[in-house]
Amino acid sequence: MITIQFAARTARWAEYEAPLRAALEARDLQYRMANYTDEAQLPPAEVDYIVYAPNSHLQDFTPYTRCKAVLNIWAGVEEVVHNPSLTQPLTRMVDHGLTQGMVEWVVGHTMRHHLGMDADITRQDSTWDRHVPPLAEERPVTILGLGALGTACGQALTRLGFPVRGWSRSPKSVEGIETFSGDAGLARALEGAQVVILLLPATPATENVLNAETLRLTAPGAFVLNPGRGPLIDDDALLAALDAGQIGHATLDVFREEPLPSEHPFWAHPKVTVTPHIASETRASTASTVIAENIARGEAGQPFLHLVDREAGY
Ligand code: NAP
Repeated sequence: MITIQFAARTARWAEYEAPLRAALEARDLQYRMANYTDEAQLPPAEVDYIVYAPNSHLQDFTPYTRCKAVLNIWAGVEEVVHNPSLTQPLTRMVDHGLTQGMVEWVVGHTMRHHLGMDADITRQDSTWDRHVPPLAEERPVTILGLGALGTACGQALTRLGFPVRGWSRSPKSVEGIETFSGDAGLARALEGAQVVILLLPATPATENVLNAETLRLTAPGAFVLNPGRGPLIDDDALLAALDAGQIGHATLDVFREEPLPSEHPFWAHPKVTVTPHIASETRASTASTVIAENIARGEAGQPFLHLVDREAGY
């Protein structure tokens, strides 16, 4: 009998319980599972797996002496990866729903800027002002982060005709995408980009990757999309680049502080679009299948999928 502790915000339990049970049962796993609340917890020393969200009340992993893995339901792990009480393997979420959601958000916002849709939507004032956008093939896009999400978004944009460059920590080969890696590759990846999309994790090494110096490398009037994490951008440098016209518009989904405080200049800036961290959400239906697969792997002594590199922080 496998013992599974679900530890996320209470609303998530209602969302996850049925699909998780269905996914575990589809794999013929014999289990008991409960939500983590202050009143009703499984005895920690009996727990084999923790299905986890970093904003859970469970923050001390020390009593979970038998736990084989902590299975994060978020893609980002920056809020748990440095927890000193966590000695168990940690996995992050990679699943179809999360990837597809991100592809849709990135393609939608890229197309908005590429086609200049705002002018048509906001200028219904009898002005016959023909603005013809370039073709996608004339609009270079750079994606910083070529992991599960960056690669899928890059490939979707490639299929639409955009020339796509991508940047990662280690060298990568992705069909249709020109790839760069490491500190030395960053400038070459950004040089002349008209759309820059951030899909990096938040780590000490990625903080402020878009700063005054790197923003200057883009084509004048470039668009920035950040569905990655807030600390990837030096906010003041971005505001200065927007005011100077070096950046034409920034569409931002994630911020150093969330919710974005009402007094933050991003809210009022005419060249900034704020979306409230909705670029892509983990969907219980598809994520449950990945969680059940990892539990089955753990039970079969196979390596876990999507293991976090604790040293790299993602
Ligand atoms: P992932 O598969 O771990 O990919 C991360 C990518 O970033 C990899 O290509 C990695 O390089 C690269 N990278 C990491 N550190 C780097 C560095 N110092 N220099 C250059 N490249 C570096 O992650 P993912 O699943 O694609 O997700 C990316 C991020 O999206 C998550 O961490 C999360 O913060 C964010 N996210 C946001 C939302 C939302 O709703 N806004 C939803 C889901 C995820 P290697 O390939 O060499 O490892």
